[in-house]
Amino acid sequence: MKKQQITVLGSTGSIGTSTLDVVARHPDRFEVFALSAATQVDLLLAQCAQFRPRFAVMASAPHAALLAEKLVANSLPTQVLQSQDALELIASHDEVDAVMAAIVGAAGLAPCLAAARAGKRLLLANKEALVVGGGLFMQTVREGRATLLPIDSEHSAIFQCLPEDPATWVQRVDSILLTASGGPFRQRDPSTLAEITPAQACAHPNFSMGRKISVDSATMMNKALEVIEARWLFDLHPDQIKVVIHPQQIIHSMVQFKDASILAQLGTPDMRVPIACGLAWPERIASGASKLDFSTLSALAFEDADAHRFPGLHLSWQALKAAEGTTAVLNAANEVAVGAFLSGRLRFDHIHAVNLATLEAVSPSKPNSLEALLDLDSQARNAAEQAADRLAA
Ligand code: NAD
Ligand code: MG
Repeated sequence: MKKQQITVLGSTGSIGTSTLDVVARHPDRFEVFALSAATQVDLLLAQCAQFRPRFAVMASAPHAALLAEKLVANSLPTQVLQSQDALELIASHDEVDAVMAAIVGAAGLAPCLAAARAGKRLLLANKEALVVGGGLFMQTVREGRATLLPIDSEHSAIFQCLPEDPATWVQRVDSILLTASGGPFRQRDPSTLAEITPAQACAHPNFSMGRKISVDSATMMNKALEVIEARWLFDLHPDQIKVVIHPQQIIHSMVQFKDASILAQLGTPDMRVPIACGLAWPERIASGASKLDFSTLSALAFEDADAHRFPGLHLSWQALKAAEGTTAVLNAANEVAVGAFLSGRLRFDHIHAVNLATLEAVSPSKPNSLEALLDLDSQARNAAEQAADRLAA
């Protein structure tokens, strides 16, 4: 079997390192073609030593120079790239078969579109790219004849439960149920949300994840982004997407069919499962995750999300029903608000206030190019920064 050449965008992050963990278990199947990171030079160096990629991309020139120096000192042949287009180059290179999109935020949109245009197998963890790209992202996937496979655990679950032929979904599927952990503040008194610190928000009960998605899980904006992600991935009406809190994270999501039958996907909460599923689909390979032990599994619980505690969740349906481009505005606002919270500038409960204020300030017209999307993204970021300044004052 010819080995698959893999590019990992965001290889030093939580999803990136889990991806390389799975890849390392299957040296007969996968070879790493390129890796990329923002600032973590030493971890990227160690990954280059282990996986010997052709290219390594760093987001800034000083970091790229430092990595290049260290590679030479260690007699490693990897070539370092740093430019606006470097991520797009490693995402669309002729020799690449599959691209793991594991950058966080809208920064990952351009390389995702490049991979889609080049017809790659695109493994999408970077949900913000699809939330921003929306219809244009899906159109690029179709036109490039790319294979888009979800890595977000909920969407991987839905994908595994849906019938194989998408042409049958409209006729067979009633709705989907995205499960949510409820995050660390599911039971916290909502009147104390103002006091939450970044360290408390990043302490997720079941997963160790990047800081941005950890805060999103705590506000449930992560689920809001996932509702939007599901709308595009599975071509659903927003009202066909439901959310149920399930704190144990054993059921990773469910599909409800027209006859009231439900299919669910279960397993231990370990991101290597959806990663292995995407890497090998339609085959199945070892992921390294432990198996579910039903003899020790206690009761599975379910509850509705409390709109008072998690006001951001409903912005997803609202944004999906508004003008196209509104989801890009919501994403930009949330990225700015989470950044401001993590740097200690904004209160936790003001993240929602920034999102609301930005949605009110920016009214998009349908963006039909990457440039238009990036322009809308930066307009929304400016409005969100202003809202954050007002709230912080
Ligand atoms: P992370 O912060 O741990 O890692 C992000 C990676 O992207 C790092 O390698 C970082 O160097 C790189 N990066 C960050 N900003 C960049 C920029 N501007 N340009 C280039 N590279 C940049 O994040 P994560 O938890 O691994 O999440 C990555 C993506 O996967 C997010 O979109 C997240 O929503 C999604 N996701 C994560 C999980 C999880 O369990 N961690 C689950 C589902 C989906
Ligand atoms: Mg998820």
